[in-house]
Parts: sequence; structure tokens; C-alpha cells
Amino acid sequence: MKIIDIKSALIGYNLTLRVVTDKGVDGYAQVEENRSFLNLKPVVEFYKNMLIGCDPTDVESCMRRIRRVGAFKPWGKVVSTIEMALWDIAGKEAGVPVYKLLGGKVRDKVRVYCSMYATDKLPYPKAATPEERAENILALNEMAGFTIVKSPVAFHNMDFARQADELGFAYDSYLPDPPARHMDNANGSMLTEKGLNYLINYVATIKERVGDKVGIAFDCGPGLYPNDAYKFAKAVEPYNVMWLEDLITGDYTPYNMAKSYRDITIHTTTNIHTGEQIYLRQNYKELIETEAVNVVGPDPADVGGIAELKWIAEYANLHGIHMAPHGIFDGVFGMAALMQVTATMPNNFIAFEFPEAHPAWWYDIVDGIPNDYFKDGHVKVWDKPGIGVEFIIPKAEKYLLPEDKDFFL
Ligand SMILES: [Mg+2]
Repeated sequence: MKIIDIKSALIGYNLTLRVVTDKGVDGYAQVEENRSFLNLKPVVEFYKNMLIGCDPTDVESCMRRIRRVGAFKPWGKVVSTIEMALWDIAGKEAGVPVYKLLGGKVRDKVRVYCSMYATDKLPYPKAATPEERAENILALNEMAGFTIVKSPVAFHNMDFARQADELGFAYDSYLPDPPARHMDNANGSMLTEKGLNYLINYVATIKERVGDKVGIAFDCGPGLYPNDAYKFAKAVEPYNVMWLEDLITGDYTPYNMAKSYRDITIHTTTNIHTGEQIYLRQNYKELIETEAVNVVGPDPADVGGIAELKWIAEYANLHGIHMAPHGIFDGVFGMAALMQVTATMPNNFIAFEFPEAHPAWWYDIVDGIPNDYFKDGHVKVWDKPGIGVEFIIPKAEKYLLPEDKDFFL
């Protein structure tokens, strides 16, 4: 079997790839994130030219061609997405779900966690106060059975970031444009005592309301000064949060500061988490070998794919580090890919971040996902060959943009 083309189309918010073969077996996957402030189509073309003529079922052989010319976003996004589409082909060709090719499943359902941005059906869709966040967390548990919910705090919380100047939470200003508020800003502004107290109180208020009914993780940054991050982690120890995520680096930054993380992690009982934008296992090496964090969260759509994620999970497990993969914007194909790989992970697996497809019509244009696949905060491991999702082409093609009309042809 040979790859003859790699096509891409912006369907809804996600750029979707189709790896086309000479045997008529297609592989599909979605790029993480994006309604695209970036046009990634030229990047797809770049890698396509290195893969034409290769056998997609030799996934690793294909990856050796393109992995070395990948990097942190946006390059790694496309390399990772191609990897998942190759596994889709390999599974379909072998007639087995991808988890069989990754070592086989060790669980029949996988726990997922919910990030609070995921839905607008909550009691407080624009929750600004910690009290409203707490009510939303309880609602997510009651409505969908989520056992873990992640809430934004500190500079990851736009309300905090926007008001940092006005209310005197930090000593330096942040850009007024929220999407740019802390990009590329590790080792950011020092918090004022008022800002630090606000953060501690924010977590305390939520945890006091929710109690131990739901595990709560907090997505924090990046951009906290390491000593502020340490004081914050120390102060919230009594609340047993699931983890504090990306306090210093790890989101928006194309590098990670393992030593700074380690200084915090070894001095607090609060679990520290990072890694959602890291590309490749090699860039996890220092974080894992120095036990710089308690939990790592690679996104298969950024780290280099699902086999890459599996290797990192195994290596983390050897060092007593837990695994909670990122995935909020991975779409319906990404959700299925996360299910396939996490079904095979060792016991350090906690949960993956549950991606909802946006817009909701995505669920009408694909087939394969069982109706009862999501229950009580878990995704059932289903058995379709490949990644486990197929397009219903007559329905899907209605959503193609004019420039992508030949996507399924
Ligand atoms: Mg995050």
C-alpha cells in the first residue's frame, strides 16, 4: 500500500486531514485547535511531499521521515495529526482497532475529565466568581457524571488576567487583548500580596463548596513567577486539588523550565502538572527523569501522535509520574484517538481531557461512535477497526468550504 495524497479541509473549527492510499483505504485525523488563526495547509503540503509513495501501515517508517523536521506548534501539530491518520489506516488494513496495534487494551472504559470551557449549558456560562465556578463544577458532575473537572485560575483565567492591572494583582501589565495576554510569557510578572491572596481564596472557595465530590484541577498559567507559584501551591495544600497545571511554562510557550518546576514539586504536596504543548518524548526527558512534576499532560495532537504519547506514558510510569493527556480541541477524531491510546496505558493514567466536537453538527456527519460511548465521566472503548470514526460523506461534504470541495474525491 502506498500514500498517494494528503488532503486537508477546514471542517467546522478543525483542520481535518485525509491520508489517501492507492488501495482506497483512507486515514483521517484532526488538527488540535483551530479555527485557524494559522493557515496550516502549506505545512500539510510540506510533509505530504516527504510521504508520497510510503507504506502508511509502516507507521514508524513514515514518522522517521517527518518527525525530525517537526517542532513545537504549529509544525508538531501537523506531524502529530498525520501520525494519527496513519494509525487509522494501519488499523483498518489489519481489521483491528488501533489499541490492538499499540499493545492491546488494559481497560474497557477510560476516565475523562472536563475543562470548564467545554460547554455553554452550565448554570453560569460566564462564571466570573469562584462561587459560580463551584456551582458549574457540581452541575458537570450531576449532568454528565464527570469525576474530574478543570477550572482556570491565575493568568489562565481571563477575568484575573484582564483585571490584574486595574485591581492590582500583579506588578506588571498584561496585554489588553486576551488571546495574547500571556503568550510567550514564562517567568512573568510578580504577584502582589493581594493577587496571591486572591488566588488562594479562589481555590479555597471552590473546594469548600464542592468538597470531595469531584476532583478539581486548576489550569494556572503560564506566566507565574516561580516563587509565587511555589507559595500558591504550598498554600492550597489542605485542599487536595487534583493538580495545578502550567504554573510557569507549558502552555503558550515553546519550551519548558524543568528545574523551576522541580524546585516547586519537591517542596509541596500539591500535585504539579505540565506539558500540553511539548513536542516529542525527548522534550519530556528532563521533566520525567528529574521528577520535576507529578503529572504530565501531552496532547497526542502536539506531542507527535498516539504512539509518542504511549512511550511517554510508559517512561513516566517508570518514574512514578502520572499521565493526564490534554485534548480539549482535538475534535471527534481526536477524542477517538485519545480513547485508543489511553486504553493501553499503564496504571499511571488518570484521565484525558474530553474534547467535544464544535460545532455540534460534527456528530451528525460521522459514524462509528456508539450511542452510549460516554457515561458517568468515562468513554467506553469501542471496537471499530482503525481509530473508530468514519465520515458519512454525503452528510459531511455539505460542510466543506468551496476551496475544499475535492476533499473526499
Ligand atoms: Mg492547559
